[in-house]
Amino acid sequence: MADLLVVGSVALDSVETPFGKVSEVLGGSATYFSYSASFFTQVRLVATVGGDFPETHRRLLADRGVDTRGLQASEGKTFRWAGEYGWDLNEAKTLDTQLNVLADFRPDLGDDLRRTPFLFLANIDPALQIDVLRQMKERPRLVALDTMNFWIQGKQTELRRALGEVDVVTINDAEARQLASEPNLIRAARAISGMGPRIVVVKRGEYGALMLADGAFFFVPAYPLESVYDPTGAGDTFAGGFMGYLAAQDRVDAAAMRRAVVYGSVMASFTVEDFSLRRLTRLKPADIADRYAAFHDLIRLEA
Ligand code: AMP
Repeated sequence: MADLLVVGSVALDSVETPFGKVSEVLGGSATYFSYSASFFTQVRLVATVGGDFPETHRRLLADRGVDTRGLQASEGKTFRWAGEYGWDLNEAKTLDTQLNVLADFRPDLGDDLRRTPFLFLANIDPALQIDVLRQMKERPRLVALDTMNFWIQGKQTELRRALGEVDVVTINDAEARQLASEPNLIRAARAISGMGPRIVVVKRGEYGALMLADGAFFFVPAYPLESVYDPTGAGDTFAGGFMGYLAAQDRVDAAAMRRAVVYGSVMASFTVEDFSLRRLTRLKPADIADRYAAFHDLIRLEA
């Protein structure tokens, strides 16, 4: 089992879906990622929040064993994101992004974190993602990156530079098309791989996840759920299951990558069952094992 470092956003989210509405609840790319990955391995979180960040949120992560010493409290307000979803829960509409303390965040890893073997650059300013890569003393065994439309539009040059240095990218389907300027998802995945990452994982919400790894495609459907309340964080939770599982393996080979896509899908399937991290906070390791088995049944060919 190897340590997993994540740098990303910790947020207060306000979200409306056809099934309810929440205001200033715990969110953020690094939050969902760490909570999810903590079921598999030791996670070390580097992020920033403002003076208004409730202590209970920090404790929630620490209670799961997440190392939160790198969660710096800065002067100012915590990053805030507001979004809404219509009946098609696959696409979030951003209503408001307030970077606040994220605007001048300069992650400082400290000596012990600079040699972490697994690194996840969660959705955050690509300039910061590059900054973190530069701070690593040793090339991690596996580096993955996630991003979104906000950065594809605003920081494409920096994002391209970051992509040139990572092994894995996780991205949703609309954003993959946008980044590659290519409507066909298969071609888009290949084009993104051509930008650097050996492995491209395209998250497709209720339609599952598609992986292109060293030229070969692998696909896993989403778990068929009858009640989905809030898809916020599904992508980061997926990445947490994916990277957390890999960091816990002795060998990161093609078979492990395929299982990691299933674990990512398992974890994401829980997140969407409630708002914020509510469902995850009720999760037991046995639930993960049960749903992994259910996935196995769902996708196997033999009766
Ligand atoms: P996802 O897993 O893709 O649904 O990501 C949801 C999380 O991304 C939310 O909890 C937001 O706080 C966070 N988020 C939204 N916009 C940004 C942004 N521009 N930079 C970093 N994090 C963001």
